[in-house]
Formats: sequence, structure tokens, C-alpha cells
Amino acid sequence: MARYTGPSCKLCRREGKKLYLKGDRCLTDKCAVSRRATVPGQHGAGRKTVKEYGMQLREKQTARRYYGVQEKQFKKYYVAADKKEGISGENLLSILETRFDNVVYRMGMASSRKEARQLVRHGHFTLNGKKADIPSILVRVGDVIALKEKSRASEKMKGLMEAMADITAPKWLELDKEAVSAKVVAVPARDDIDFEFNEQLIIELYSK
Ligand code: SF4
Repeated sequence: MARYTGPSCKLCRREGKKLYLKGDRCLTDKCAVSRRATVPGQHGAGRKTVKEYGMQLREKQTARRYYGVQEKQFKKYYVAADKKEGISGENLLSILETRFDNVVYRMGMASSRKEARQLVRHGHFTLNGKKADIPSILVRVGDVIALKEKSRASEKMKGLMEAMADITAPKWLELDKEAVSAKVVAVPARDDIDFEFNEQLIIELYSK
């Protein structure tokens, strides 16, 4: 399935919550969810409460859209999470958190995951000193993610580096603001994820 290229705010309105897809705008009163919290479409305002399957589906779509992952890839993450020891739902969120694009976002080097994905694709970051331009790479404990030396000169990057200075990274990431890098020091735990997911609903959906 092709990547969604329509309006990001429509996705938030569909899920009825802020997914923070547009960076700083999401924190202003221009946010579409704050202004109009109804589901998009002609009958959006009249839609009734969803049943069990609908709730599971919506929770999966919320997580998928929040992290910007396509369905096929998301299902693969579920399979991997289910095989791992521990609670499948928490494993799934932990896997999603360790995506390369999410790490760049968590470092404060992008205002949204979408922007982080674009920066990664354009080859601005290295992983353990080597070129890495695939947003779906899953980082591991000990990995070091850094902004390329060559990429630091542009005005855009200077702005992002300034923004990084104010960031408090999650405790599984150790930031080196001077070197514009981050080291993965732990596996992300459930309480490191500040978005309210009901991950059990996603697991129930896929285990049918
Ligand atoms: Fe979602 Fe951000 Fe748009 Fe608000 S401004 S609807 S949080 S993408």
C-alpha cells in the first residue's frame, strides 16, 4: 500500500486525538483537533460509538499513524513483538520506539516524525559512524546515532541543533548535544512512552 500523502490533520481528526504529526503547529490553537474534533467526512459528526473490533482497529491505526508506519511493516512488528519474551503490547511499542526515524525525532533533531523520516532519507545521519538512510532501521543498545559533520553547516540544521539544546531525551537515550549525537543506553520501557496507547487492543486485533 502506498504511503498516505493527504492532510496529516485529517488523520488526527479520524482518530479523535492529537497525533502530533505537524510539529510546532500541533501545540498551537491552529491544531485541527482543538478546533474541530469531529471525524472527517459528510457523516463524521453523526458517527456513533464503535464496537470492540472498531476500537481495536482504531487503536492500531492510531499507533500506525503516530509512528508513520505502513500496514505491512506494522504487522511485521507485531509478529516480532509476539515472538519476544514479555508482554507483546509493550514489546510492540518498544520496537516502534527504536525505529531510526523515531530516535532522530526523540533526539530533538526534527519537529515531527515525518520530518525526521525525511532527514534520515536524505542521509543526514550516521549509525555507529556509518551512513544510514533507512528510517525503519531498528536501533539496539549501544548504537550511536549522530548528525553528519557535513550536514551541520546548513541554516535548517543549525535551527534544529538549537532546538535540540532544549530537549530532554527519554532515559533510554543518552544525548551528547556537543557532538549532536545520541547513544542508546537501554531498551525503551513502557513508561518511557508518553502517548496514551491501549496496546492490548492492538494485540487482540492481530491475534484473531
Ligand atoms: Fe494533528 Fe498536529 Fe494537525 Fe493537530 S495540528 S490535527 S495534532 S497534525
